[in-house]
Amino acid sequence: MLNQLGVPDVPSLKALRKTQEELTKSIGIPTRAKQSPRGHVFYQNGVADLLAMDWANPEVRPHIQIYPVESKKVTDAWHAEKVLRDLKPEEQGPMWADDQKHYYIGELAQLRDGQLIVPLRWFQQEQNGDVYGEGILVTHDPIRNILHTDRSVLRFKTGELLMNWYEVHDQDFAVPFIEPMPETVYPGPNPLRAIAKGRRMYTCYIKPWGDDVSGNRSKQYNEHTNIYFAHANLPHEKLSQEYFVRFCSTSPHASAGEQFDTMVADNITEKRWHVAYDCLVKEEILFRVIPANLPADNPQQSELCSHVGLKGNFWCRVCHLGGTEKERETDENYHQHFTPGRPRTPAETRSAVIEQITVSAFGVQETVTNLQRLSGVKDKLAEYWVQKCISRSRSIQQQRIHNHDTRDTRLNTVRTRDRPALVKEIQQSIQTEVMDWLYTQPAHKYDSLPEDSRLSLRKQLRPGDHFSSLLTVETLDVHQDSTVEPLHTYLLGNDKYVWHHLHTPWTPAQYQLFALRLQSSSTDGLNIPPLQASYMIQYKNGLIGKHFKSLQQLAVFHLDESLCPQLVLDLCKATGELGALLWYHEIDDMEGYLADLTILIDNVLDIWALIDPKRIFVKAKLHILEHTIANIRRHGPAVLFSTEIFECFNAVFRLCSVLSNHQAPSRDIALTFADLERFKHIASGGWWKDQTGTYTCASTRVTRYFGEPSHQRRLGYSRRDLLDPASVKCPRKNQKKSVPWSATSAATSSLPASDSESQHQRGDWEALEWYEGTAVVSRHHDVCRVGSWVFADGPTEGRPVFGRIQQILRSSEDCAQTVDLVVLEQFEISNQRHPHYHMPAVHPLSVTQRIVLPLEAKSIIFLCNVQHNCRDANCEASGRRFRRQERLQSGVEEYFVEHKDDQHFILNMHAIHNASLLRKTLPRELCAPVQYLQDRRAEHDRLAATLRATQDAKRAKEKETRDARKAANTVAKRSAGAEGGNAAGQVSMDVQPESDGALHILYSADCI
Ligand SMILES: [Zn+2]
Ligand SMILES: [Zn+2]
Repeated sequence: MLNQLGVPDVPSLKALRKTQEELTKSIGIPTRAKQSPRGHVFYQNGVADLLAMDWANPEVRPHIQIYPVESKKVTDAWHAEKVLRDLKPEEQGPMWADDQKHYYIGELAQLRDGQLIVPLRWFQQEQNGDVYGEGILVTHDPIRNILHTDRSVLRFKTGELLMNWYEVHDQDFAVPFIEPMPETVYPGPNPLRAIAKGRRMYTCYIKPWGDDVSGNRSKQYNEHTNIYFAHANLPHEKLSQEYFVRFCSTSPHASAGEQFDTMVADNITEKRWHVAYDCLVKEEILFRVIPANLPADNPQQSELCSHVGLKGNFWCRVCHLGGTEKERETDENYHQHFTPGRPRTPAETRSAVIEQITVSAFGVQETVTNLQRLSGVKDKLAEYWVQKCISRSRSIQQQRIHNHDTRDTRLNTVRTRDRPALVKEIQQSIQTEVMDWLYTQPAHKYDSLPEDSRLSLRKQLRPGDHFSSLLTVETLDVHQDSTVEPLHTYLLGNDKYVWHHLHTPWTPAQYQLFALRLQSSSTDGLNIPPLQASYMIQYKNGLIGKHFKSLQQLAVFHLDESLCPQLVLDLCKATGELGALLWYHEIDDMEGYLADLTILIDNVLDIWALIDPKRIFVKAKLHILEHTIANIRRHGPAVLFSTEIFECFNAVFRLCSVLSNHQAPSRDIALTFADLERFKHIASGGWWKDQTGTYTCASTRVTRYFGEPSHQRRLGYSRRDLLDPASVKCPRKNQKKSVPWSATSAATSSLPASDSESQHQRGDWEALEWYEGTAVVSRHHDVCRVGSWVFADGPTEGRPVFGRIQQILRSSEDCAQTVDLVVLEQFEISNQRHPHYHMPAVHPLSVTQRIVLPLEAKSIIFLCNVQHNCRDANCEASGRRFRRQERLQSGVEEYFVEHKDDQHFILNMHAIHNASLLRKTLPRELCAPVQYLQDRRAEHDRLAATLRATQDAKRAKEKETRDARKAANTVAKRSAGAEGGNAAGQVSMDVQPESDGALHILYSADCI
């Protein structure tokens, strides 16, 4: 096209493609072919290769957090327990570098004051702050020339370090310790130095995500299982951008588990280190990869945990909760549904999987099924081998035990009394034989095992070959790290159940009423897309996450006795309250927050149980919510586990899929993404090794392209810093005409006379001319408009005022500094919760007079959401207006809710946006959660008893029906037999599955 337009020196398409290919190669994103143990072929882009690009990318590198941060405020993974405490210090970060001098954990060093010390870990006290070390003090005894330590611990700034191990060694201090030497101290340099060879060593955390996605744009489902990941050393505000989602692999054939196995084998093995170029220090570094958590939807997470899934008897992937229906109805077991149970461990799961495989070599399916049923463990890869082993074992048994011509000759002679023992012996030998065969499978993997390791690996089941390798990653606890995801578990779980339960009994008139009321909600300060109430009612059973997010924050304002019973209303309240806390992205006091969250989760579960005691059995997601508490403590705020950004990234994947020719989708799509990564890397100024082995980056003429915000947006990136607090937006059209002070609404304000400073300021303001602004940015970066409800610094220090913005003003004076003012109509928050809404009510300061307060724009603290108190004002859908279509007034009339006064409001405590700020500002008694059931245990026992009674009656009735049907069938068969009909081909449809006794089959020889 450029040629046709007459642009000179345009390279041919072939030359362009060749250059692109060479560049992708030299930048180092090889797309590798992989074959899974089940034989599926797919292509994968290396996790480590993609992470290495982050270190070499000047846009990304400054945001990489290297050390854990020990602070009260928790916003990211590096503040939370797993990174901070659960991982070994060497896994968190083995070394700290002072320019060219490296200090490692566990080796002797000296501080500036001469004190000898052995650092045991590195950490920061605030993000971007100084790095600290924690180590044990060591004393040198010059007479005996030995070191000793009383193991007292010292925290020091890393800047205090003077000499590292080599220098201390040169000073002749590096002498032996008095025995016993502390186990955390190395006798010489840290062994990692041998691997590092002078390079810095760091840890990268990743959040791998897997799910099935349709590769088609049309509705026809074209299943692909995709693996993406996010680099968890980056802050959450970066990770919520598509630019930071990394594509790893896709396949229409291989499952997520198979793709994860190769990812683990290539990147995550504990001892594996990868090279990267650190563009900040301009040198090569080494890093290792540790999976932080596994965000995914619940079925996928179950698969990653080698768990049987949400439909099994033991349906919790995190704890051992479960049993048969009857077992769950006992008081003890029923109550356990409302609390997190005894946790599963990867070691336990691993041995359960190995037991299943071992037992399967006896050839009895039922034994394996029973093991799976009793433990809730079912590994997808292991299951493949289980089936192979069963059929192999059966065919050999057929040959050696059952077939008269080929069987063990002893079976033809041995007396009946000894037969069972002999059969058992043969079965045992067949089992051993099948297992020996299994160890050599899959052949291509077995052949590639290193010669010397073959002996040791020959006689064992290998992770990644025979069962999921995620179970053996030391730094990953699949059960605790498959975090409860708010989108799938709360919005598409609890919120969906609540909505369904709420609207199902409604009449068309009730639907209509709710839609009208919902549409009248104020959405300012909620950060949600425009409400489409009638759409939500029309497609009530097909709502998606964003709809539930809106309903969760607003529904409760529109419900009353005419729409639902009190208990359902309580459930909606509990749901809204919990939702607001669940979306915190900043936690100031972890223990206090978790205590509140526990009460709110308990409330939701308890109310559900009161509505329907059986609901907790049927909806696994309700119990799974209980595990959120442990997840947040271990991994940080729940928003960090959200999969929304990965789901958004599916659109990019779908485009790549649609544009490929579908001949080799896995390969083509992986190559496209590698190209995309290469382009992103070059354009954003990333470094790579050229053919001569030196590191280079694109010239400014190329990187200039990336500077354009519109281009950044196309790559899913926004460098945009947050909006400047206190800035006022004043459209050009508003600047045409200025107004004098007396014409502004601020002129009517009455300031306290004692505040001489304010009076003085006011004198200045009165002399100025003003323009009207449309928006002002709060200190917490919210855009507040006229009519928005805000908290602001008031005349009295430490006591914020609350109100509604009436006018935003900017001085027209052409002076050095313009003055930005916000005129706030002051309201008061009542000191009690409203009895119906359970939220603080909002009233004007004075009923007779509007009290307005002119404030400087910088005093606006944050925005919140306030709803009209329609209940007390008796607002009705009495208004009529023309509906707007295509931004124009249409001829279609519609009803709307008219608010009857401008005095009664309710502060929306279900709002997710600024929920934590709001709770910090209000007195605790206005926002502290209240436990719904005072004695939970007693109430659960009572519910379990009613459940047992109803279920027993139901079961008895079912049995009666079943027996009656059976009897009828038998009679029918008999009469058919009597009539001489051919009944041989008929299959009875009501065969009952054996519930127990299957374990005995394995060892009984009565099948002979
Ligand atoms: Zn559980
Ligand atoms: Zn109203």
